[in-house]
Amino acid sequence: MPELPEVETMVRGLRPALEGRRIARIDVHDPSMLRGCDARELRRQGRNAVVASVGRRGKWVVIVLADHRGMIVIQPRMTGGFWLAEPARPEHVRLSIRLANAGEIVRYCDARRLGRIHWFAEEAEAERAFAQSHGPDALEIAAEDLAARLKKTRRAIKPTLMDQKVLAGIGNIYADEVLHASGIHPERVSSGLTREESGRIHAAIGRILAIAIEAEGSSFDAGYRTVLGLEGGFLAINSAYGRGGEPCRTCGDPIVKTRIAGLIGRPTYFCPSCQPRRPTRRRR
Ligand SMILES: [Zn+2]
Repeated sequence: MPELPEVETMVRGLRPALEGRRIARIDVHDPSMLRGCDARELRRQGRNAVVASVGRRGKWVVIVLADHRGMIVIQPRMTGGFWLAEPARPEHVRLSIRLANAGEIVRYCDARRLGRIHWFAEEAEAERAFAQSHGPDALEIAAEDLAARLKKTRRAIKPTLMDQKVLAGIGNIYADEVLHASGIHPERVSSGLTREESGRIHAAIGRILAIAIEAEGSSFDAGYRTVLGLEGGFLAINSAYGRGGEPCRTCGDPIVKTRIAGLIGRPTYFCPSCQPRRPTRRRR
């Protein structure tokens, strides 16, 4: 599932292909994924529009059209992704943006069709929709704000970090990595964390996400690929996710694969030595 680093990598790949370019036409191949307009309306809005910018809000890709024409917001969710290259599975193309010059095409593909393609006529409308379902961006949240948000819930820290309303952008993979880097057990009660511990989590979020963006995200199975169809490299260098039974890169003990309450069907990886359930209190 694309998380913040994967969506950021998509956005960085799309920028040179779209920004400042004129759209010849937009084709919607799966109208059931559209929200906020129908296929005809999106086609009308897109015709001859210039792309002002491509950006990211949480795990959303935001394509802003110039002259206040509106914006296309795509949520890749589980299996969505963009292709500048010829897509590996042409039958999964759900939206095509054909550019005016040279006939280049940017395609949005989505195998399971769980993603969403939104049209917003005004920025304020998009902001409202985002604010209703999201907290601050994981790369922008202040340490004090994160600490205050963690204090508000007695849920385990891992599902709390994955709750987009608490902070936007982190999913199953990066929650495991952040908690490993912070030395915090995934089932610790969020409100029971000390200020020093939430500070460690805040620092780890920035550090881990930066490394993951640098590596162009995480790929496994037939899932996420970069806009050029390449695999992301993060899971070759990471510490926890997918490393059950392998030695912890910090202490050498085996990483444990488990399941925790509140996360149905998704595994959790952690190091019981580096991430104790009951940490010994550190003297200040
Ligand atoms: Zn360890």
